[in-house]
Amino acid sequence: MRELLDFWLKGIPLTITDQQGRAVAYLLHEIRPDWGVASLVSLIDKHRDVPSLGALLIAATTKAMERTCQTPAPIFHPGPHWPAAARAHLPKPEPCPDHVGESAHSCRCCIADTKAGIRPPGMIGKHHTPTSEDDEAPANAGASLVEGDQA
Ligand SMILES: [Zn+2]
Repeated sequence: MRELLDFWLKGIPLTITDQQGRAVAYLLHEIRPDWGVASLVSLIDKHRDVPSLGALLIAATTKAMERTCQTPAPIFHPGPHWPAAARAHLPKPEPCPDHVGESAHSCRCCIADTKAGIRPPGMIGKHHTPTSEDDEAPANAGASLVEGDQA
């Protein structure tokens, strides 16, 4: 009751209990048998500070019903699958380790790098060190082109 009061008065997110987390995991597994209960329980456990149990259920079942959503991880990304009133209270998404001001799950710089072929597709929102000098070439290539023009 105290937590509910804090939420309404101060906008402090509620914490999902173990029992609630397991209940959501079993329910999602019924909708998506390919999503294992154990991995759902551990995923929910890592994201306990959600605005409310009802908001989590709406966001989770919406994602579970999206056939294009392969894994349950996107449930906890911000987006239209969360009720509008809950969106302002979602915990801040994890930042991209390589690009300041971008969220790891939807980093526009990483996505652009992937399209340009200088970042592997699985490395969006993860720290990536180019393996060969060819990967870092564009900045240097531009410099030598300018020098060439002057000569
Ligand atoms: Zn990035």
